[in-house]
Amino acid sequence: MPTGGSDHYDDQNVFARILRGEIPCKKVYEDEFALAFHDINPQAPVHVLVIPKGRYISFADFTQQASEKEIAGFFRAAGAAAKALGLEPDGYRILSNVGHHAHQEVPHFHLHIFGGRPLGPMLARR
Ligand code: AMP
Repeated sequence: MPTGGSDHYDDQNVFARILRGEIPCKKVYEDEFALAFHDINPQAPVHVLVIPKGRYISFADFTQQASEKEIAGFFRAAGAAAKALGLEPDGYRILSNVGHHAHQEVPHFHLHIFGGRPLGPMLARR
C-alpha cells in the first residue's frame, strides 16, 4: 500500500509514507478505499484530510485513472468521515488543491474537510 495508480507518482511523498505506516497520523476513518486523518497544521477547529489508498497524484489524476469502484468508494468514505466528525448539523467545506496555482504541496490526491466554525468567504480576494 498504496497500490496501482499513476506512473509519475512519487512513492516517497508524505501521504504514501502515512499509508505504509512509516509515519503516524491521527486517524478519523479508514476503509478499503480511503484513510482520513487530522491535518498536522489545522486551518480550522476541524481540519481533516481524506486520501485514497491508490497512487494518485491529484484530483485530475484520480478522476482520470481510478476505477469507478475506487472513485465511488473514496467519495463515500469522505462523506462517512465528515459524518463521523459530527460536522453535518452545522455544515463544513471540502476543498482539493490541484497543482501550483492552488498551492498543492503533497502530490497524493487529498480532500481537505474544514469545519467547527463559520468558514467565511469561499476564496480570499487577492
Ligand atoms: P495541499 O497544500 O493541498 O497539498 O495540503 C497538504 C496538507 O498536508 C497541508 O494542509 C499540510 O498541513 C498537511 N500535512 C503535511 N504533512 C502532514 C502530516 N505528516 N500529517 C498530516 N498532515 C500533513
